[in-house]
Amino acid sequence: MDRIKLFAPATVANLSCGFDVLGCCLDGVGDEMIISKNSKQKLRITKIIGQNLPLEVNANVAGVSAEALLAELDEKQGFDIEIKKNIKAGSGIGSSAASATGAVFGINKLLGEPFTTNELIKFAMEGERLASGNAHADNVAPALLGGFSLVKSYEPLEILSLPSLPELRMLILHPLIELKTKDSRSIIKQNVELKKAISQWGNLAALVSALYTQDYNLLGRSLKDEIIEPVRSILIPYFDDLKALASANGALGFGISGSGPSVFALCKGDGVAEKVKSEFQEFYQDKNIDFDLHLSKINSEGIKIIN
Ligand code: ADP
Repeated sequence: MDRIKLFAPATVANLSCGFDVLGCCLDGVGDEMIISKNSKQKLRITKIIGQNLPLEVNANVAGVSAEALLAELDEKQGFDIEIKKNIKAGSGIGSSAASATGAVFGINKLLGEPFTTNELIKFAMEGERLASGNAHADNVAPALLGGFSLVKSYEPLEILSLPSLPELRMLILHPLIELKTKDSRSIIKQNVELKKAISQWGNLAALVSALYTQDYNLLGRSLKDEIIEPVRSILIPYFDDLKALASANGALGFGISGSGPSVFALCKGDGVAEKVKSEFQEFYQDKNIDFDLHLSKINSEGIKIIN
């Protein structure tokens, strides 16, 4: 095999009480990538369609992640990477993670899988380091593994896959404003009040329990973030109104996707999700804010080969 075409999915990280540790994979939106062997003994990004992003290997997350993998193997084989971006960079739904995981997944396949999918996470994290200055795993892990991923620890890196619930629908509202991950990270306070920490880890543990016991109600009651959301939500236009709309129309939970500006409403079933979607649409149109909406199931498979 000399060439591979991939669907690299969007992901929601920083899932409410799971800041930096919990993310999930979407199936409704993702990038397409073509990776092929070349005879130049060089890694090249040959084409990017749909977004204005750097072709230089060391300035693109796909290049940096791929280089990390090739360096570990001391591999001389060259590769060409083409990226069709359907996920807007800086949207908060794992645009950088999609490219980073696509590059390492594709190259690993073309090399005859020297690494397991789990082992690819650490290489893709190098792309995240380039994008945001922080090598977080809660986008790249679910993009590679599918479903929900929990980062049990960063040192050593230990990632757990959690079960999903079949009727979950993730609605993403992306207000088309620019918000750099670096900027939204810089406003976060470095110290946490004990009372808030207790509430956060209680909710995170309950959320994990809800996934295992298939308890939608408990899941909804656990999707709370007392630490990051109050600080970051001020960067998102009409956050509180959207949250109230989601709740009034039956969403299980609502929060910031990644580091924003996208927000998510997690819903049970298509009916609730469609209702929340039309309410969001009407609300933002009324306020004259441009936006994208993506409605998705939870993608249990993760990144995959397509034709
Ligand atoms: P997201 O949360 O949507 O991934 P980030 O802000 O984390 O957004 O990452 C986007 C940043 O990464 C932008 O500054 C962008 O220029 C940079 N970047 C470099 N290569 C890529 C790529 N292949 N895809 C997306 N973003 C990239």
